Amino acid sequence: MDMQVYLNGEFLPLGEAKISVLDRGFLFGDGVYEVIPVYGGKPLRLTEHLRRLDQSLANIRMQPPLTDEAWSAIFDRLISGTHDQSIYLQVTRGVATKRDHAIPAGVAPTLFAMCTPIAPPPPAGIRAITVEDIRWNRCDIKAITLLANVLLRQQALDTGAAEAILIRDGKVLEGAASNIMIVLGGTLVTPPKGAAILPGITRDLVLELAAAQGVPTEERTIDLSELGQASEIWMTSSTREILPVIELDGKPVGEGKAGPLWAVLQSAYQAYKQMLRESARAG
Ligand code: PMP
Repeated sequence: MDMQVYLNGEFLPLGEAKISVLDRGFLFGDGVYEVIPVYGGKPLRLTEHLRRLDQSLANIRMQPPLTDEAWSAIFDRLISGTHDQSIYLQVTRGVATKRDHAIPAGVAPTLFAMCTPIAPPPPAGIRAITVEDIRWNRCDIKAITLLANVLLRQQALDTGAAEAILIRDGKVLEGAASNIMIVLGGTLVTPPKGAAILPGITRDLVLELAAAQGVPTEERTIDLSELGQASEIWMTSSTREILPVIELDGKPVGEGKAGPLWAVLQSAYQAYKQMLRESARAG
């Protein structure tokens, strides 16, 4: 049987979930989304994800369509079992009467959510390449308009790498679908929030866990030249957690394997997930 998904107030089999070709998400990429990992049946950092959704919506001149409680009730119905899964939710500006760039008034948004299993990320590490960032100037908005990200990720895949690290004006920003953290002289460094990167929920959690472990952290601009000096490079995201980059542009990073600080944060991150699973079991 098709899995059940949520579309505009209804739960229905995936194959029956249909939207109009006049949906502005389809015509203009006019919408935003979230991806929320779920462990032991419990969404990780749900409030933070919903606040980021609000922020994305506000930035594209939309109101929050549902309360946190209403979203939560939808997710509870989509989550099945206690295996690791992730919720995908998307809000578009809805169906207009004709194709026109101007934002239509009085149109109900299209709301969609589904929950799919997530596989454990590859622990051995990944290869990455640096590429020139070709995206727009509002990368803080989690917009569904992901053509540049798609092309950049594919550019990496074509060379046998798993992720593209995006460079703009000689500065290291983030991955095609992840944030970046580097270890420089024992300090964990990551670019500051702003219009050039997505404010990653995993990024914030890793910074918090690092601080709790007594690891010094710094949020500051990273020059491209510093990537070559980093003893460790990690990419963070909700579904792939903390991924060590072991080879960058064909050269080994550090010792060419997952580094010692990664092991510290990886174990703190796994413990955090386990706590969530146990709190879910406790009710
Ligand atoms: N940057 C970009 C461009 C992303 O698409 C993502 C998530 N897919 C991230 C960073 C990581 O964000 P999060 O930790 O909230 O998943």
